[in-house]
Amino acid sequence: METPTMMTIQLPGGWLLQHSPKACGGPAELTWNGHVVLRDFECRVDGLSNTAFSTRALRFFHKGGQSVASCEGQVSPLSGHALRQIIRYGANVARVTWDLAWRKDTVAKIGVEIGSATLVGTWRRVLVIPDFTAWTSGQAAQWHDLVPGKNLVFNPIPLAVVCERDDGVQIEFSMGFDVWRWQRGLGDFGSERSQVALAVSDQEMTFQRQILQGGEDIMPEAREYRFCSQIAWRAPTSAEPAAFPPATTLEFQANGEGLAALPTAGSGGAPSFVLDFAAMPVAAAARRDDGSGLPCWESNVTQRAAHRAIRQIAAAGTTGFLRLDGLTPGGCQDGSHCDRKHGVAHWDLQGILTFANWARQCLGDGWTMAAPQPHDPWRLLPSLADPLAVTGFRSSIHEE
Ligand SMILES: [Zn+2]
Repeated sequence: METPTMMTIQLPGGWLLQHSPKACGGPAELTWNGHVVLRDFECRVDGLSNTAFSTRALRFFHKGGQSVASCEGQVSPLSGHALRQIIRYGANVARVTWDLAWRKDTVAKIGVEIGSATLVGTWRRVLVIPDFTAWTSGQAAQWHDLVPGKNLVFNPIPLAVVCERDDGVQIEFSMGFDVWRWQRGLGDFGSERSQVALAVSDQEMTFQRQILQGGEDIMPEAREYRFCSQIAWRAPTSAEPAAFPPATTLEFQANGEGLAALPTAGSGGAPSFVLDFAAMPVAAAARRDDGSGLPCWESNVTQRAAHRAIRQIAAAGTTGFLRLDGLTPGGCQDGSHCDRKHGVAHWDLQGILTFANWARQCLGDGWTMAAPQPHDPWRLLPSLADPLAVTGFRSSIHEE
């Protein structure tokens, strides 16, 4: 079979992505310094991998400082299941959206995997942030050692799994904001039918995210199912954060009208600011319902208020130092944050990453920015290591 020419996306820090133009999914490979770390990131529908889908509408473009790969595919014959994937790459994290259209009157004999992959090399341990229910009941994130020949299963699907190789390279698979969709899966077949399974050998580890383990009598309703997710990657010795000059703390106005007047720039020297979003005044309806009082980043009200503050800072100049505090995820069940009438389980890692990407675009590459995490497990997540990083995807001939 003719090998299709791979679409290549260059990332900061020696990372490289390859997408196959003939697969409805991907990346086919993620390499670091020329060596494969991850391959075959894909969905598997009843034994069919993404190469079994006849792929159409495949597009690669840059938008909003991200490199985007989108595709649609359908199992032959053309009346079969259909799959759409959009993956948006930042510097070291990608946000993925899948839409799976289940074919009418079709049994899921084997089952459905969403965003499974093979990790290349010897993997020594995984950090697991448990499923939403366990986590919001106080069960902490935990490291598990990996032993070749010994498989691990986590049920239901955890919020995040961070895999660590023996050289310290890390790969994160985390759930999108839409926890309730992952909980519901492809129908009410019982939570024991969804899990993450890790099969470990000396040379590689398979990460299987099974949204539905099949059976002779398992027939999902024919409709479209959406799932969101992130993958992120981190080199063993990530760059030390830049040293920040002494900073002025920016204050929010209590009336919700954005920031108090910013200090005028002194003679010479770029401004240096600290802003803590935990102190941002937003309406009670925009806060997490977990009793923390913190804004929920899946709420449009929160996003609008934060955008306003960043725009005020952008108006102060094209260069400077900015540290953003309070960009720490949490769980929430206020359905209005996700445009739902009733309460639905969600967490706001995705909203934080979306906001951070937007803030970098708004302020431009001239600002030195950081969003340090004060405690674990957030310090351990590759996706939160540097969400404000310059992606390198700003200028492109394909900008649309
Ligand atoms: Zn919320």
